[in-house]
Amino acid sequence: MPLFSWTGNPWVDGGLAVIVAKAGKENVEHLTKADLDALVSDGVWLAKANRQLKTFTMVVGVNSPLTNPSLKKNDKGFKQYCEMIQSLAKSAIADTGGEYRCEACGERPATKVLAKYKKEVARDWFPLAGSIGSDAQALPAASRTARICSLCLLSVQFLPLGAIIIGGKIACFQSIYPELTQLIVAEVFKETQDKLNLLGSDEKLSAVGQGKGTKESLTMLLKIFTELQRNRRILELPPHASLNVWLFSNSGQEPDCDVIEIPNEALLFIWDAARTYRREIETILHREPKQISHQLLECIKRKTEYSGFYPFKSSKPASKGLFELYQTKVLGNSLASLRLAEWLSFEIEFRLSGGDKNDKKLLAKLQKENAYWNKDKTVIAKLNGIIAQLVIFQLHSPTWFSGSFPQVQHPILDFLA
Ligand SMILES: [Zn+2]
Repeated sequence: MPLFSWTGNPWVDGGLAVIVAKAGKENVEHLTKADLDALVSDGVWLAKANRQLKTFTMVVGVNSPLTNPSLKKNDKGFKQYCEMIQSLAKSAIADTGGEYRCEACGERPATKVLAKYKKEVARDWFPLAGSIGSDAQALPAASRTARICSLCLLSVQFLPLGAIIIGGKIACFQSIYPELTQLIVAEVFKETQDKLNLLGSDEKLSAVGQGKGTKESLTMLLKIFTELQRNRRILELPPHASLNVWLFSNSGQEPDCDVIEIPNEALLFIWDAARTYRREIETILHREPKQISHQLLECIKRKTEYSGFYPFKSSKPASKGLFELYQTKVLGNSLASLRLAEWLSFEIEFRLSGGDKNDKKLLAKLQKENAYWNKDKTVIAKLNGIIAQLVIFQLHSPTWFSGSFPQVQHPILDFLA
């Protein structure tokens, strides 16, 4: 039996994935005691990295010995943190038996390391863990402190190195294919580590997406997927793969946790888009509005139309391929209905461009902005009128039409059939 395995707890697994990546392994089951000893060592590397990461305080608040202002003098907190990390690493493997099981992994005995420092498992060691005297937290209902094992506590200390921020919260990924999560975290960790190496020792590093909306995180996912395809780590997404994103906030007075699912279709969209349309999406994301509800990742989550793919003022619409990919993968529209829409727009353009001054004016408005969003409500009314006419003509005299539309001869009849 392997010494380490996934626990099902998103925070612990997020940290474990960083440990696996730092040890240069591909899977948690390949991790050995020697790997863990080597990468924790005297704890200094982890302490230094976490001290520079802004996500660290988001994961464990400000009461960790590493960040607690009262322990700043003579680096007391830093030293204590290193000591505690080493103790956790030692007991992570050595601990057996014990009265209580860990409530995160259910496998190992609850830690005794924190008690030696007269500390309890509270949110400065485990996200959202409640403690006696602090009922603001969620787990385990403030009746007693949480029982967590040394390995789970240690793993969480690595989590900030593999975390990105989505909409102001820390995001941890979870999938029924843990290898997918492992690859995503490994890419985030690699980027975090590269940035840390370029930073002065007193400088702080923001995580991807920190202080921003969702576009940076989506750009990151696209980048990760491109990278996985480029280095051929994954050629195709596993069938039915979906991604749970656990979003949590552990600092301040309003700790919170939310889980969103990026369903299989949406994930397939991001995967295919990364292969062919990454640059185009990045250009569109660049001009994305600030309201989160209008941002692409949010629209993917909600399965709603994304305005960035439509023309607006001077912005061009998305390419046909990208538009179709979104319509079919995320919104679930069939290719037949898209062909019908394409045929309708072809006929509308054909008629209006050969019409009078008013027709040409209407055509210009249609090409500039999605008719549904135009403040001038007569645009959509006129458009509906033309579509109704087209349908009647099509049903009664299919030969009337321009006939030059390349793929579909009688789309409405085909569609109705
Ligand atoms: Zn545990």
